[in-house]
Amino acid sequence: MSSTIPPLAGKLSGLQSSAIRDLLKLTARAEVISLAGGLPDAALMPRDRIAAAAADALSGPGCLQYTESPGWAPLREVLAARESARLGRAVGVDEVFVTHGSQQALSLLAEVLLDPGALVVVENPAYVGALQVFRAASARIVALPLDSEGLRVDLLAELLASGERPALVHTVSNFHNPGGVTMSAERRRALAELADAHGFWVIEDDPYGELYFDAPAPAPVAAYSRNVIRLSSASKIIAPTLRVGWMTAPPSVFRGVELLKQGADLCGSALTQQIAADLLADAAWLSGHIESVRTAYGARAKALVHALRDRFGDRLTCTDATGGMFVWADFTDGTDAQELLPRALDAGVAYVPGSAFAVDGGYRHSMRLCFSTSDAATLTEAVDRLAGAGQSAQL
Ligand code: PMP
Repeated sequence: MSSTIPPLAGKLSGLQSSAIRDLLKLTARAEVISLAGGLPDAALMPRDRIAAAAADALSGPGCLQYTESPGWAPLREVLAARESARLGRAVGVDEVFVTHGSQQALSLLAEVLLDPGALVVVENPAYVGALQVFRAASARIVALPLDSEGLRVDLLAELLASGERPALVHTVSNFHNPGGVTMSAERRRALAELADAHGFWVIEDDPYGELYFDAPAPAPVAAYSRNVIRLSSASKIIAPTLRVGWMTAPPSVFRGVELLKQGADLCGSALTQQIAADLLADAAWLSGHIESVRTAYGARAKALVHALRDRFGDRLTCTDATGGMFVWADFTDGTDAQELLPRALDAGVAYVPGSAFAVDGGYRHSMRLCFSTSDAATLTEAVDRLAGAGQSAQL
């Protein structure tokens, strides 16, 4: 007897696999220098320090057990102290919620804050991980562009003046993925004022803030308004495998997230949370470690930007790469980055075309280049290959 396959939830019909994940399968060839991935450099991750912390945690009583849904209490204490320093006010332990990476915070927050059809404002180009979450929540998404000072908050003000009422605004305020830019202090203040005046939530998604190369980023948007939920993560400063992210959120949001986290996974891993607490509490070691990551990434970023400007001249503009892991580049000579990609792969270099981050199409002449996992000489070679592919494209 033939069986009838039961249907899946209707909200799945509009969802697609991330174009970037599909692309990474193509770029995995050994001869290709990949600037496409968005990964931190595993060689810079503190393997021995993690091993020592793991051994320590395993010799204690609690690390094999379930832990509390909002996270292992001593980790939350360490995080509350860090967030207090960051926000310039006393952040209580009861405001800090540990999640399975900040990606889980996005997913839980979408459930807590959004009804189907709710308006969500995102940045364009967008962090695709957030876009996927908001699309899965059946949100109505409006994308506002970035410029060199981050989100165009003036356009958000216009949207509000036209009568639109967003439930939330998502911003990657520091060293944007994929846009490479950092929101200016004035825009942070303006965004916080709008959130207070109109009563919407801001999710300030900040996994890259500590990876600055020249000067620290301005104070977080969350320093100016309690309507801002700040997300951060151990993934880029220690290691993604810990799956330790955290949010600083007001009590109503905290309670909602707690209820949903129980349903999602009961709690995070007591073992990796103890490892994270050990490393994050070791201030002298941590600052030295983060400084070494900054120095390595900063040298790579400079090499990439220098090579791009040197080889392409005024045929291309790119961000300055003042922190984080990404450079965003725009061809000014009409080159279509998506059409160029097969030739670039043949020449032995990969990147993500800008269109993969576009919310409603566009960015065809743009690309995201990740500098975190290649050394300066390799990045220079990658740009040479890209320039070669670009030239053959013009023949
Ligand atoms: N937000 C942004 C902007 C990111 O780039 C990433 C990682 N690519 C995340 C959130 C999620 O990171 P994690 O879950 O590892 O903390």
